[in-house]
Amino acid sequence: MSINMVSSVPWTKSFFPLWFWNKTRVLLTHHYRYHHRHSPLSDTDMTEEGVVVSLQEWQGWGTTSPLPTMVSQIVEDLKVLEEDLDAHMNFGGNGGKLQVSEGNFRVQEDKKHRATYQALGDSEKKLQFYSARQIACRILGSRGYLCQKCWLPMEDCMCSKVTSCSLYPGIRFWLYMHPKDFLRQNNTGKILWQVFGVDAATLCLFGIPEHEEIMWNSLKMAGKSNVWCLYPNKNAVLKSVQNVFGEESVARDEVAPSKQLKVDTTQHFILIDGTWSNSAAMFRRLQDKAKSVWGDEDLSCISLNPGASAMHKLRPQPSWDRTCTAAAAAGLLSELQLLPQFSSVELEKQAEAVEHALTVLLDALTNRRLRMGRSITRKMRHTNIQ
Ligand SMILES: [Zn+2]
Repeated sequence: MSINMVSSVPWTKSFFPLWFWNKTRVLLTHHYRYHHRHSPLSDTDMTEEGVVVSLQEWQGWGTTSPLPTMVSQIVEDLKVLEEDLDAHMNFGGNGGKLQVSEGNFRVQEDKKHRATYQALGDSEKKLQFYSARQIACRILGSRGYLCQKCWLPMEDCMCSKVTSCSLYPGIRFWLYMHPKDFLRQNNTGKILWQVFGVDAATLCLFGIPEHEEIMWNSLKMAGKSNVWCLYPNKNAVLKSVQNVFGEESVARDEVAPSKQLKVDTTQHFILIDGTWSNSAAMFRRLQDKAKSVWGDEDLSCISLNPGASAMHKLRPQPSWDRTCTAAAAAGLLSELQLLPQFSSVELEKQAEAVEHALTVLLDALTNRRLRMGRSITRKMRHTNIQ
């Protein structure tokens, strides 16, 4: 979930300034020529002309996974098309959308990818293609323009101001991110692995099989009782942090205090990181997979206490709340901190590290906007990148 008020998962009502929703209108004219970088990490990404997207470049954006096969294929296809047409690809700097100005290439690419999409038989294949194409275009459009760590334009890089912090090892976050949120400047999910590292807060891109497989393998190992989705499921009874961990821990302590030491009880929290309209489909996909793995039962959903804002300590404006992904994670840590079994692992400090990084992001985005002569208060019309 990015910073905005239009498309938030309604953990609580939102206070975000609308202007964050607006896409930065920076045109990136990217003369798309291939760097002859040879990565020692992988041979599979090599072409006769050099590396299209190296493993190193791919992982630099915040993941430890291999380069997804279909993303790699689409990048190759784009390159072939570019050579055939003797044209240059031109991507929008924010969103990786091919720009209208590149008339012929855009038209041809559009035709081609629509034809490919239509020819795909089932909806699963279509989703995978859609996601991979989004990712491929975003990578090509952001290369050399965005800082790989904070996803801000290099001149606005906020990395030096972010303080990293170790997440309590009994907790692991999964950022289940929609491809349209990938490499978005105002995305906040990225903050979690900036602060906690990619092993504690792991990116899982929706519709990218390599990513989903890694996450689900981990969740299967953890077992259903240790997996939670931070998403309000309207059709299920929502459990609060207190309901779930308060009662559970008492029961566990009474029954088998010694057993607890041997069993890995790491709690896995899936955070859905997409716009409000995309989140429903993402949640459904998680539920379907959970059913196929664990049988009929729904994936357990957990809700935050709407009354207890984790952000109450922060200055009144602009105020953060839990409608953005990173703030939701901070809120969760703050609520867990209140429970006896988590009281001694400094979750409050970890929540504060996230809140601090959020403040840094907000400042960076605000400064950028001011520097570019844009208002930070006027309301912008919601326009979806397609
Ligand atoms: Zn940076």
